[in-house]
Amino acid sequence: MSTVAVEVVYRGIFQKTLARNIVRSIVFAARKEGKIGTAFGRYGDSPERNGIPAKQFAIVSDSPEELEENLAVYEAREVDVTINVDDTMCKGIESWAWYGLQPINALTKPGGTLIVTSRQAADALIEDIHQKDSAYNLAIIPASTSYSGLWVYKDDHTDVRILGALAKVCPELVSLDSMVAALEDQGWGGLKATSARNTYDRLTSRPVEPGEGSDDEPFSFDLPGWKSMEEGLVIRGIEEGGGFRGGSLGDSYDPINTPSILPQGYEPTRNSVFKKFSTRAMRPVINFDTCIKCTLCWLQCPDTCFDVTPDGLYDANMEACCGCAVCEAVCPVPDCITMVNEAEFNDNNSQYEHWTRDKDGYHNWMAELIQIQKDKDSTRSHGYHSPGVYESESEVALTGDDD
Ligand code: SF4
Ligand code: SF4
Repeated sequence: MSTVAVEVVYRGIFQKTLARNIVRSIVFAARKEGKIGTAFGRYGDSPERNGIPAKQFAIVSDSPEELEENLAVYEAREVDVTINVDDTMCKGIESWAWYGLQPINALTKPGGTLIVTSRQAADALIEDIHQKDSAYNLAIIPASTSYSGLWVYKDDHTDVRILGALAKVCPELVSLDSMVAALEDQGWGGLKATSARNTYDRLTSRPVEPGEGSDDEPFSFDLPGWKSMEEGLVIRGIEEGGGFRGGSLGDSYDPINTPSILPQGYEPTRNSVFKKFSTRAMRPVINFDTCIKCTLCWLQCPDTCFDVTPDGLYDANMEACCGCAVCEAVCPVPDCITMVNEAEFNDNNSQYEHWTRDKDGYHNWMAELIQIQKDKDSTRSHGYHSPGVYESESEVALTGDDD
């Protein structure tokens, strides 16, 4: 073996403990084989925000010199294995406006493996994952999303199952026996060790050919280089005000000099580079026909997502939505706003435009999504307003029905 690098892509804070358990156990297991390794979080992702994709790494080498040589870079340029612990991040990840949207497999080296915890089939995931020009492997651990993080903790064995899978897809890193021995050292023998072994035995992976996957161009923007730095510290703000919509007057609408003409809607200005495409694991779906225009979602949304439409309805802008579900919680009309698994969507288009263009079509689309959400309730739930749900999910995982 030379050096083996593993990255864990997780949702900030909620899955931090999960990510840390994985990378730390890799290093403990490597030591069992006389190797040397280190585990660390990616500096640019700290401090983390709830739901924002973040990374931790484990790098393992045969010798300290080799490890040092490979750590002389800020972040691994390529990894043998990428572990994604929330399948909605297959659409790509943004951390701190560093590089726009980074494909989930951007660092996975040719012939490497992407491990995803998911209830989706490989083809459905590959539809979301950006194409690469080299082949790699996709391995799926059948599992619900595990929020084993700082704010919530459920011991559902996701960490040890991933470690068992890792020993299978990357035997040059560590053997299963070393991995299990490292788990036992941490007090994770018994059922947890069994879960690791079961996942090792059951895991299969599928090759993903060059050019297979989504051909979407990842959102990007120009970063200032060191030569183009401005004097002083410049933090660009978001422009004040916003866009009153002037209806038929269009851009010539002037609310200051012609206040007698009422605006037809309002669209706030938003950050031009930090989009929230990858922040959310769920998104709101709105029933415009039952909305009573109470304004609560618009007022309470912490990310100013709602555009006021010309007829006084509220349309959530998917470039800004982080999926927090506050709008669903505050909406006084039953089922007017429903949070739905982000994995069900293939674009970020305006729901209001869809509704105005084709009301029947919109209703069918909405009904189908809500039904899917109800049917698959245990695969994507919102812990903020479903207290206790994690406990019941853990029970399912521990009885083995989750595998
Ligand atoms: S889920 Fe609702 S409240 Fe939360 S950011 Fe999105 S639109 Fe705003
Ligand atoms: S909270 Fe519900 S009823 Fe009130 S404006 Fe928003 S969508 Fe309409």
